[in-house]
Amino acid sequence: MAEVKEIKKGKIGVTTENIFPIIKQYLYSDQEIFLRELVSNAVDATQKIKALARSGEFKGDLGDLTIKVKVDPKNKTLTVSDRGIGMTAEEVDKYINQIAFTSATEFLEKYKDKIDNIIGRFGLGFYSAFMVADKVELITKSWKEDEPAVKWVCEGKPEFVIEPADKQDRGTDVILHISDDAKEYLDDNRILGLLQKYSRFLPVPIKLIKSDGSEVLITEEPLWKKHPSELKHEDYIEFYKKLYPESYEEPLFYIHLNVDYPFNLTGILYFPKIRSNLEIQKNKIQLYANQVFVTDSVENIVPEFLTLLHGVLDSPDIPLNVSRSYLQTDANVRKISNHITKKVADKLHEIFKNNRKEFEEKWDDLKLFIQYGMMTDEKFYEKMKDIYLLKNVDGQYFTLEEYKKLIKDNQTDKYGTLIYLYATDKTEQHSFIQAAKDKGYDVLLLDGQLDVPFINFLEQKLENSRFARVDSDIIDRLILKEDKPQVNISQEDQQDLSIIFEHAATKTGTGTYFVQFEAMGADALPVTITQSEYMRRMKDIGRLGGPDMRLYENLPDTLNLVVNTDHQLIAKVIEQKNQALGDKLKQLREQIAQVEKQINELKEKHKDKKQDEIPQIDREKLDELNKQQEDLENEKGKLLREFAEQNNLVQQLVDLALLAKNMLKGQRLTDFVKRSVQFIEA
Ligand code: ADP
Repeated sequence: MAEVKEIKKGKIGVTTENIFPIIKQYLYSDQEIFLRELVSNAVDATQKIKALARSGEFKGDLGDLTIKVKVDPKNKTLTVSDRGIGMTAEEVDKYINQIAFTSATEFLEKYKDKIDNIIGRFGLGFYSAFMVADKVELITKSWKEDEPAVKWVCEGKPEFVIEPADKQDRGTDVILHISDDAKEYLDDNRILGLLQKYSRFLPVPIKLIKSDGSEVLITEEPLWKKHPSELKHEDYIEFYKKLYPESYEEPLFYIHLNVDYPFNLTGILYFPKIRSNLEIQKNKIQLYANQVFVTDSVENIVPEFLTLLHGVLDSPDIPLNVSRSYLQTDANVRKISNHITKKVADKLHEIFKNNRKEFEEKWDDLKLFIQYGMMTDEKFYEKMKDIYLLKNVDGQYFTLEEYKKLIKDNQTDKYGTLIYLYATDKTEQHSFIQAAKDKGYDVLLLDGQLDVPFINFLEQKLENSRFARVDSDIIDRLILKEDKPQVNISQEDQQDLSIIFEHAATKTGTGTYFVQFEAMGADALPVTITQSEYMRRMKDIGRLGGPDMRLYENLPDTLNLVVNTDHQLIAKVIEQKNQALGDKLKQLREQIAQVEKQINELKEKHKDKKQDEIPQIDREKLDELNKQQEDLENEKGKLLREFAEQNNLVQQLVDLALLAKNMLKGQRLTDFVKRSVQFIEA
């Protein structure tokens, strides 16, 4: 092409509308992407010259291809320089004046209204420079011999100037004259931060030239682009530390993704150690498109549960200029998402198969993540169900199938339901765990964040199975068997003990109690306090769930107090009660029986009559008798409650049961200790 002899002036582009004001306003918070765009252009130009050299079209010396980003606060400029293919005057006119301008206009017009929904925001390209600059100069010299350098200048108006320039070296300098309201981009550290964020792993070296002239090399190796066979374990760990300098824990393991068909996807995903809810951090996956950082919010690109992973994903096949909700329906994104899920499951299977021990060692750290995945992603559940592990209180691990085999014979109840016993705290629930073990049962340890919802989930998946916490009832009732032993104390004693223990327990202020009687064997505890599985789960759900679930959390504690009728101390309580109240109780019971007899006779007499057909006198008599009966019952109750309050053995038995359930606290505990000393002295 002929030399640019004179200054060429013109008007940019094809649209009449002036887009510069729109560019300026273009998502203020996302201004910073201008640098990514300019550096990406420089990288493209550099890659092109490399390609031309490879094909032999370019025969010269490639030289140092480093892209330089220079901060010059004195002159208020920021310059991006490359040694790529450069442009001829004709090309500047075509690519910058026409194509770039048109595509920037189209881009803005298309996304003006929904800019918030766009990720990546690729496409604004060269003209995004005008978000931060009032004036942009582009000085470029084509790789083609004999093509003179040209300078294009535009001051944020549709008018531009192209004039000859005296650049000797191949390549392009883009000089931004930073506007007053964008001064932050004249700060070394701000630019350093941006380059490290967006342009850290580019295939061409990038250097920052600071205002004092010193240089910082930005570029690092994008490990994910290498072939897995070239990499050692340490490389992956080192890379992890580079990505997350703030995390002091090593990842559990990692997956190197490397697909080119039917979509292009590379990346490395790391499984972090997740032990508690507090540590759960989403948005630790960085998404790249051809090594250019796009975003670190990958929801809708990977399945929800995988957002717990860390690492990088790089795919040019993820559409970037679309809304988030559209992403989910995009065929490529769905394929990518499924692929990642499959790879994650495959990796877990591989470890399980090749190194069960390692799998078990890492299980506690993986569990939360796997449970989350199984509950939210049916496909993942299907893939994982065979290697999901249950851990018992002794630290042994079983697959669901193995565990079923282990407990099938012993822990199936008389209705054919398989009962999975579990504890949530080995120390607090120790006596209950022991009681279960004494029966030859196995007890799982479910102390994870998601264990409560997960057992609800598993119960729906496993047939004829139920999970029961060891302290939700006495062991014989948790797993009901045919040959349940009979309670061997009289009905009357049961009535009395009900009142006595209910009063003694309720007085502790720990909740409402139902007293029950079971023949649990002479070696089991005399009194046991349990909370039903159902009530507890409701409360747990109340605690975990949102505000509308709080209701359940505040349900009063209803507890069961189970009296072991086989225990000699219970016989002793009965004995003491009879000693203290025997005659009075006998008398009261006789009186009550008397009154009841009269009531029944009267009722019998009028049994087929309606209320108003019964003679007045009999109705009054019946009321009178009912009142008498009530008074007598009250009197009996009062005696028994007084007995309960004064009887040290009863108090002690209730406190022991509370203690076994870790519910004995404060004043009660102090009283208990004192009383225990008295017992020992006695
Ligand atoms: P895109 O990069 O998406 O094509 P841009 O607006 O960023 O859009 O750039 C438009 C065109 O200008 C590019 O396609 C390229 O041909 C040319 N261009 C921009 N920057 C450079 C550069 N540094 N070196 C060579 N050509 C460039």
